[in-house]
Amino acid sequence: MSDFLEYHIVDLECPSCGAATPKTIRWIRAHRVYTCKGCSATVSLDSEELRRRIRSLEDLALRMGL
Ligand SMILES: [Zn+2]
Repeated sequence: MSDFLEYHIVDLECPSCGAATPKTIRWIRAHRVYTCKGCSATVSLDSEELRRRIRSLEDLALRMGL
């Protein structure tokens, strides 16, 4: 995977409180859950929505030749 994608930051939105937690794709791929900064909830990273967002970024990077 390209550096562009590895270090691209995605805002993860907490389903409990809606707080945004910025993480790189590299970090997201290496973890299964994260802790929300807003409410300290443990949130799963294994969601179809998140996979779809990462996939569309991969498509974008391919099209841009990154
Ligand atoms: Zn939260």
